[in-house]
Amino acid sequence: MKIAKEFNWEMGHRLPFHEGKCKNLHGHSYKCMIEVTGEPDSNGMVIDYFDMKKIIGPIIDELDHSFMVSRNDLEVLEFLEKINSQKVVVDFDSTAENICIYLLSKIKAAGLPQNVSAVKARVFETENSYAEEEIKLQVKN
Ligand SMILES: [Zn+2]
Repeated sequence: MKIAKEFNWEMGHRLPFHEGKCKNLHGHSYKCMIEVTGEPDSNGMVIDYFDMKKIIGPIIDELDHSFMVSRNDLEVLEFLEKINSQKVVVDFDSTAENICIYLLSKIKAAGLPQNVSAVKARVFETENSYAEEEIKLQVKN
């Protein structure tokens, strides 16, 4: 069984390596569909939607109205510090693919119910483009 919940946030970023528009400072209204796979528990739930929000909400809140910046993007990092703007410093360039992996690792670290066997993140950078990744989890009996 699979269930999913949508999350939204606004975030600035740039891709320093990009030769087109994406090297500029800009932002997106990100959307993410988090899909959880597992056998329903005795209550008939894979995971309670409220629990999903409790686990994933804080991860998204940290990103909302912040600027995601790579540790290696020193000029932008220095600028954000100078103007005291909210930032999320990461070890990667903020492509939709990497944000997917980032979200999944955060969700995995936060912990999910024992019956959950996989989590999938589909990150929409724009309305019509997304990246998707799934991780398998060990089901505990
Ligand atoms: Zn972008």
